Amino acid sequence: MIAPVGYPQLVKGRTWLVVLGNANYRCQCTGECGQTHTSTGSTTTSISGRCVHEAPGRQLVAAPADPAATTVTASRAHIDELHAWCPSCLDGAIRKTLAAGRQLVELGVA
Ligand SMILES: [Zn+2]
Ligand SMILES: [Zn+2]
Repeated sequence: MIAPVGYPQLVKGRTWLVVLGNANYRCQCTGECGQTHTSTGSTTTSISGRCVHEAPGRQLVAAPADPAATTVTASRAHIDELHAWCPSCLDGAIRKTLAAGRQLVELGVA
């Protein structure tokens, strides 16, 4: 399957396990998707401002922490540069990035 342009390559296998493990199987978005995540404080592990979506309740994916990363960048990304994302946050972050990219093109910067 060929990913659409602008969509970061998703990481699978062992790398996915390590990234998800580092994230405590919880989405690492802290607002990159454009939403303000407010902590409910219901668990001791809750981190203020971070998305509350966790595996296995949500299917989390491993993708570059910077959603603007290209497919090439993503495939070379070090494990530290990968974050666990829930699909809705990743989608929002990519949309935001693409929208910003369009603005740059319009301004003649990109
Ligand atoms: Zn999320
Ligand atoms: Zn988010």
